[in-house]
Amino acid sequence: MTSDVQQQPKKADFIRDSVKADISSGRHYGRVQTRFPPEPNGYLHVGHAKSICLNFGIAEEFGGFCNLRFDDTNPETESVEFVNSIHHDIEWLLGKTLSKEPLFASDYFENMFEWAVTLIKRGKAYVDDQDAATISELRGSYTQAGENSPFRERSPEENLELFLKMKDGGFAEGSCVLRAKIAMDHENMNMRDPVLYRIRKKSHFRTGNKWVIYPTYDWAHGQSDALEKVTHSLCTLEFESHRLLYDWFLEQLEVPIDQRPYQTEFARLNFTHTVLSKRLLKKLVEDGVVAGWDDPRMPTISGLRRRGYPSKSIRNFCQHIGIAKTNSTHEIELLESFVRTELNQSSQRRMAVIDPVRLTITNWPEGKIEYRTAINNPENESAGTRDIPFSGSLFIEREDFKEDPPAKFFRLSPGREVRLRYGYFVTCTDIVKDKSGKVVEILCTYDPATSGGKAPDGRKVKATIHWVEQTNCIKGSVATYDRLFSSERPDLLDDPFEDLNKESLEVLESAVFEPAVADVASNEVVQFERLGYFCRDESQVNLFHRTVGLRDEWANIQKRNKSK
Ligand code: ATP
Ligand code: MG
Repeated sequence: MTSDVQQQPKKADFIRDSVKADISSGRHYGRVQTRFPPEPNGYLHVGHAKSICLNFGIAEEFGGFCNLRFDDTNPETESVEFVNSIHHDIEWLLGKTLSKEPLFASDYFENMFEWAVTLIKRGKAYVDDQDAATISELRGSYTQAGENSPFRERSPEENLELFLKMKDGGFAEGSCVLRAKIAMDHENMNMRDPVLYRIRKKSHFRTGNKWVIYPTYDWAHGQSDALEKVTHSLCTLEFESHRLLYDWFLEQLEVPIDQRPYQTEFARLNFTHTVLSKRLLKKLVEDGVVAGWDDPRMPTISGLRRRGYPSKSIRNFCQHIGIAKTNSTHEIELLESFVRTELNQSSQRRMAVIDPVRLTITNWPEGKIEYRTAINNPENESAGTRDIPFSGSLFIEREDFKEDPPAKFFRLSPGREVRLRYGYFVTCTDIVKDKSGKVVEILCTYDPATSGGKAPDGRKVKATIHWVEQTNCIKGSVATYDRLFSSERPDLLDDPFEDLNKESLEVLESAVFEPAVADVASNEVVQFERLGYFCRDESQVNLFHRTVGLRDEWANIQKRNKSK
């Protein structure tokens, strides 16, 4: 069932409004060009998906284009592995290959260097020999002006000579930096002579040892936008206070006004029970809390893909939440409900028993196998039907039987009759236990007259349970997942790692599946009836990851909120 919210996509927002206004006023000659600028220092997470959908979406809607540009300005933390994963994840998320090759900020190091020389010659940048701690201390605070560096009044000639020496490796790491010369008493801290270049004697994964000076984010970002002729530079709210500096650089470099990109900020995406900081995600991987960046519990795009989230459900979610100017946290159940809606439409149904116990039908003809017809997808008639073997030797879910049923437990118990999905009515006549008292076999009789799923005498049963025939079953395992963090807002805790849910992964290794599960492809999601949606692992034989359960927890949250 599609909920109302999912049927009414929002597509107007303040950013799209401003793009429309720019087109009609002829700003940038009506051109629209955006970019998505990840730093290749980790895998993309679902928060990035919002920015990807926005940047690529706007370009497409307004007939422009969007570049993937790697912001690869820090040789210490970046790698080709991350470049490749980011590229792949974006194409998967968008459901198409990118029409242009990715770009790299490191390809502009030469231009940035030339521009820095221009600033120096104009007396707008200087080499500062103070160490990082002193620079930070003399920047002042929100309530207190900063102090000028004793090196601030060096002449352009001296600065140029020192900067060239910096570039040529003539100084040790940390011994000096290049700073813009703006104002140490500026009310915006980002304008207090920000650092443009630092010395890092590290090999870069693309430029090797060519450079020993590396640009800071502020210096690299806006200048890369300008070089690519980006029109709309969209970024998250934490960069709002950097906008003045972004514009200041373009002004000093005399980028023609009609070619100047401009920055607009929007709210980050956050979820309950989730951390979306690359630093923390990296720590989860490095500390071995999860099996890797693509562990199905990770909120990374690759983790969600492995778990079976359809890319369309993530795109639909992003479209639904829209773009706003205030940060907020979404319930993770809302994203899950988009996943469920999509999978309900697209996935085939199969039967599986993940915690099996034997059920023997004592009055079933010895050795007989019968084929029962099952519907592949009730939401899509063209998916057709399949035949499932049925016999007197079945597996059912252990939790569908209780020797002493509590009130409201309507499934199987001694003396009780239930319906087997696509099968017959069966009545439990006896049970067999092992030495420890554990039920190992449930004995039943069946009523041959209930073949159509109904009793001719009109008697009713209160439960229908699923099953798998024993002799033809496929054996395998399923991994079920719970929240990685127990509390609702791990992002607000001092140490989110203290909040880790120790039971976030459960692997059931004796699951059994009906034979038609053999047709399920790698990475394909099926609905195991009554259990949820499950995605076949790419490499491990007959391993299925539980994508989401069947119950719409988002609907429950809404009900709860309404009754408050
Ligand atoms: P982190 O702060 O976790 O290290 P980041 O934002 O610095 O991540 P980048 O690779 O620099 O990571 O991000 C690329 C782009 O994605 C940026 O434009 C950033 O604004 C955007 N982005 C990152 N996180 C989110 C989020 N949670 N919601 C929306 N956009 C995001
Ligand atoms: Mg960043």
